[in-house]
Amino acid sequence: MNMEELRATALAMAEPQFKKFEPIALANTKKVLEAFKECQLSDYHFNGTTGYGYNDSGREKLDEVFAHVFRGEKALVRAHFVSGTHALATTLIALLGSGKDGREFVYAVGAPYDTMQSVIGADRDVPASLTEKGFIYKEVPLKDGTYDLEGIAAAVTSDTRVVVIQRSRGYSTREPLSVHDIGRICKAVKAVNPKTICFVDNCYGEFTETTEPLEHGADIMAGSLIKNAGGGIAPTGGYVVGCEDLVERVAYELTAPGLGDHMGSYTPGYRLFFQGLFLAPHVVLQALKGAVYTAAVGELLGYDVFPKVDAQRFDLIQAINLHSAEEMEQFCRGMQAYSPVDAHVRPVPGDMPGYADKIIMAGGTFVQGASIELSADGPIRPPYTIFMQGGLVFEHSMLGILGAAEEILKYRK
Ligand SMILES: *Cc1c(COP(=O)(O)O)cnc(C)c1O
Repeated sequence: MNMEELRATALAMAEPQFKKFEPIALANTKKVLEAFKECQLSDYHFNGTTGYGYNDSGREKLDEVFAHVFRGEKALVRAHFVSGTHALATTLIALLGSGKDGREFVYAVGAPYDTMQSVIGADRDVPASLTEKGFIYKEVPLKDGTYDLEGIAAAVTSDTRVVVIQRSRGYSTREPLSVHDIGRICKAVKAVNPKTICFVDNCYGEFTETTEPLEHGADIMAGSLIKNAGGGIAPTGGYVVGCEDLVERVAYELTAPGLGDHMGSYTPGYRLFFQGLFLAPHVVLQALKGAVYTAAVGELLGYDVFPKVDAQRFDLIQAINLHSAEEMEQFCRGMQAYSPVDAHVRPVPGDMPGYADKIIMAGGTFVQGASIELSADGPIRPPYTIFMQGGLVFEHSMLGILGAAEEILKYRK
């Protein structure tokens, strides 16, 4: 098959899926517009402030809009969160540890995302980790590759303060959770202990469906602004949204007891956060299209891909099992050559803090490390899995994945 045949055949395979995603993007765009209208967003809300940031109307409006869109009582949307991990960790620390009770928390769906494993510190020595602070961690293993409702119910006790439900697969091979799955887990948790807080790690899941976890029984959730909810142009940050009393505690943890969400300036201003949220449903559609197209190209080249082309999708991640370390390098090299930034750079496997194997990575992004922009990475070890995600513009994703394919085919006998 030549490159033109590959391009066109993959597109024909992927297009029926595109038709399923488009109404979701339409509904979510409408939802965001309705929130802007309801909250009376105007351009003076884009202005930044300085110092303490008292009466920062942009900051307050951004919280209000996020609370509306994600159907929470209150939101905390801050550039002061350095990442999604920081928002998640701050939320966990804020919710745990009220007195001698409430020190126990449970990860409901297998192992946490890599950076959260350092936050928790159950299997490693990390200064100031939750384990070092004396919190008690439990993890419910997957059953048959997915969540185990009975196992979750059995893990929850009268001492369980928080259950964490991770929506996306992260860098694992389990299926992501639908909001319906999240609802079932919350129900099972509450049936055992109605006081247990259901906390969703919402990273990579936002706007992949027309409803969000808080509408299905979750109490609070957190995510990154350099993934879905930032629409590819929010420059940094994270968000937390949910029940008012809980989000208030997180605000006190982020700033200081007594200060909470009444302070905090961001001098560059808030336009990119609002505009990013406006773009987010469409950008998620672009990324989903890119993921499905990548699955189609991978399949045509004879690789195992997950999810499959026609699978339902509840996050943005596409994995392909290549055949060798060399092919991982070829893939990343080919994709990197179509990056908007650093296209002239050649990716090579390197050591990363916290990883046992060398990692290879393609991704020339405008916002540093933004995985809502087209990127691919993976640890150099069998089964030679490359995880591809993001893509602000489907045309770019097409060029990137076809570039990767062309580079691999060049070396095939
Ligand atoms: C990306 C991600 C995180 C961490 O977000 P960062 O902004 O990279 O810190 C946490 N959980 C999941 C499931 C993620 O995909």
